[in-house]
Amino acid sequence: MRILSAVYVADDGIKKELILRDITSFIYEDQLKGKLYCPSENCKARISYSRGKKAHFRTWRMDEHSNECIFRFDRIALNTGVNTTETINVEIPYSRKQKALQEAFRIMNLSEEERAAQSSNTDSKPRSRERVITRSKKSVTGMQMVLFDGEEYDHQLLKPRTYIWKRLVDEITLKDIGEIRLVMGNVVSVRKIGEVAELVVEHNNQSIKVVFEEAFIAERLNSSYLNKFWTIERLMKETGNVQFTGIGDIRKKSVVEVPELVIYHGSDFKVNNIDMSSLAVQFVRRNFEEEQDSS
Ligand SMILES: [Zn+2]
Repeated sequence: MRILSAVYVADDGIKKELILRDITSFIYEDQLKGKLYCPSENCKARISYSRGKKAHFRTWRMDEHSNECIFRFDRIALNTGVNTTETINVEIPYSRKQKALQEAFRIMNLSEEERAAQSSNTDSKPRSRERVITRSKKSVTGMQMVLFDGEEYDHQLLKPRTYIWKRLVDEITLKDIGEIRLVMGNVVSVRKIGEVAELVVEHNNQSIKVVFEEAFIAERLNSSYLNKFWTIERLMKETGNVQFTGIGDIRKKSVVEVPELVIYHGSDFKVNNIDMSSLAVQFVRRNFEEEQDSS
């Protein structure tokens, strides 16, 4: 969940709640660094400020939030050793991603009636979130603020960080580039590349490439997913239609190329709602049983 304010505790013990627009990188480095705390009651986690176009607050290095804190998250060890840009989805807890994948599969398989009923109440989550923020914004403006650097309040920031936006392949727009998304579509091809593969996933004649790169191969937790991409081909042969749901980074190399979805963890995608390593276990077991029957 996005952290929208931080409590500054001055050397004399006086506390002030600050929001992003109160802070500039100069002020942060000069006065606030190491003195910002989680806004939740009784939470001792320190908060740091990341500057940039989308400035944001984040949890200080390895500090932990209290058990009751709404900003608490489970750290997933990423040990890619390749490059650090791969740490982006570290703050989305495993359970939340699994739930989102489940939900995406359900959405893909809704009947027309169910779909019509659903469309009237989608987006309710971000909207309610926005209301909460507007209120807290008001409550802090009454206080004496350190500085205001005149930056526009970025509406992107209103979206809680761990809310995973779902997109059918044909719903992906330029706004999704560079963001974490849950992508839904049908697998149309599997091209094996060494221990991994490149998938092409389509929906309504739009396609995306799903790629698994060095960081995926290097991640120790992914070892049970390497060399298992044949299972998707087999599933395609057996069922005729393989639905893909996967969470990763959306990227686009050039205007002419189709977008790419970069997956970092084996558990971040499903085929027909099945984890690929479990699918391999099922197929191998079935092969074995068939061999037994025929001998
Ligand atoms: Zn906290």
